[in-house]
Amino acid sequence: MAPRTGEHATAGIESLDPVDWSGLRALGHRMVDDMFDHLEHLRDGPVWQPMPDSLRQELQSPLPRKPTPADVVYDDFRRLVQPYATGNLHPRFMGWVHGGGNPVGMLAELLAGGLNANLGGRDHAPIEVERQVIRWAAEMLGFPADASGVLVTGTSVANLIGVLVARSASLGPSVRQIGVDGARLVAYTSAVAHGCLPRAMEMAGLGRAALRMIECDRNGRMRLDMLAQRVAQDRASGLRPFLVVGTAGTVDIGAVDDLAAIADLAVSERLWFHVDGAFGAIAALAPGLRPLLTGIERADSVAFDFHKWAQVPYDAGCIVVRDATQHLETFGAEATYLKREDRGLAGGGVWPCDLGPDLSRGFRALKVWMTLSVYGADRIGAIAQQTCDLAAALAQRVDREPALQRLAPVALNIVCFRFVASDGDLDRLNADLVADLQESGIAAPSTTMVNGVLGIRAAIVNHRTNHADLAIMVDAVLEAGRIRAAKQKKPPVIHRGQVYREASRLGDAGTRGPFPAPGAGTLAAVPP
Ligand SMILES: *Cc1c(COP(=O)(O)O)cnc(C)c1O
Repeated sequence: MAPRTGEHATAGIESLDPVDWSGLRALGHRMVDDMFDHLEHLRDGPVWQPMPDSLRQELQSPLPRKPTPADVVYDDFRRLVQPYATGNLHPRFMGWVHGGGNPVGMLAELLAGGLNANLGGRDHAPIEVERQVIRWAAEMLGFPADASGVLVTGTSVANLIGVLVARSASLGPSVRQIGVDGARLVAYTSAVAHGCLPRAMEMAGLGRAALRMIECDRNGRMRLDMLAQRVAQDRASGLRPFLVVGTAGTVDIGAVDDLAAIADLAVSERLWFHVDGAFGAIAALAPGLRPLLTGIERADSVAFDFHKWAQVPYDAGCIVVRDATQHLETFGAEATYLKREDRGLAGGGVWPCDLGPDLSRGFRALKVWMTLSVYGADRIGAIAQQTCDLAAALAQRVDREPALQRLAPVALNIVCFRFVASDGDLDRLNADLVADLQESGIAAPSTTMVNGVLGIRAAIVNHRTNHADLAIMVDAVLEAGRIRAAKQKKPPVIHRGQVYREASRLGDAGTRGPFPAPGAGTLAAVPP
């Protein structure tokens, strides 16, 4: 029997809880079972399929004034939402740097939603869980045990917090009263740093122009000679260098800056040393990768995500700051209604709302705590290592294929390459080819510009990806490339992407449609 909200024994003001819990309880069990089925059979479905316009329109309706039975709304979810999600759960999703999530993290989200805790502050166990997660993060990075930190939506916000703490460390807490007051602060990072860093400078009121994007070497690492030169120049012209941001795992090719050398320079130039380790910081959990990060333990602050390489469901970013006082002085609140007591619910030491811009905050910490506890940090590190090993194997395959050209060295888990067996416009061809592949549902790499050319970018992040998935992806690239190259020579006979849309239609009926099974998943297997 479907539970109905608003169906109550008594008239008047009513709670949202059902009078009889059995219906909602049964629906809840069904949701959990359905989602386990979905996770168990990911491989049978397309990586991604575009949402049909007719269904998009169904998601546009006026504010629902009246109740709808929960099972009806759940059916809408199953029909309208679930089949058209991003696809990053799927082992052949290799676009951007998306995490694959994990089933324990999924359950933790249910528990966290059940508790509905507000982790802005006050004295309760969920905050102790978050403090534990921050201590684990500090341990992972080689930071002191009394380092400070807080969970946020993602590395974009964590980097913003890093810039703001660096700003108050340089100008003193008075910056919170009077602003930068004409101080001409300048910061430094690599030319291939993530776009959220210029944005952080913008939001910190320092301006994008005050972030010097320093040239990189052939391996995508910031050139330290150019960095030192630029700092000297800026000082000579009366500016005030205050911050250098190193990157552990660039988003385009996965390069890791020489963090130890940046740490040395930060000391001698008296700069705050922040690391953007969005996915790369997790390499600290893999003994074979950890040496690449040498120097991260000397940073003043590190921003990274649990939702990428650590496989925790979205969203879960983290900022860790070595000097807890600096962190607190940047955000500590003075509002009287948030006044702390030594006892009762309003006690409990430093509150998370004193460590970042948010007041009310959810219980993100639980899915991180449960993921790390259930699998163990070593296993998460081993997954990171596994994705790097897969990337190395993919690079070898690319190097063996005459029709493919590799565009960048592989430092971690990202391989950039392109299809070259054609003369026409290779940038166009590779961009179309990637869209073809995504629309086919067979695999979803993304694109990036490497040294001025457009490449196919396969970022292997998901713990589910294996060698067979890589073979299917490369075979599909070769097939799509050949079809595309032939089309560039003579006027197209078929519409763009038509062949591949046929493929996604096969998978349209549901997530369990007769979609090309692993091994058969080449575009050649698709009927013309
Ligand atoms: C993904 C990424 C970011 C942004 O992180 P979000 O969690 O998406 O906010 C920043 N820097 C790098 C290097 C990244 O890969």
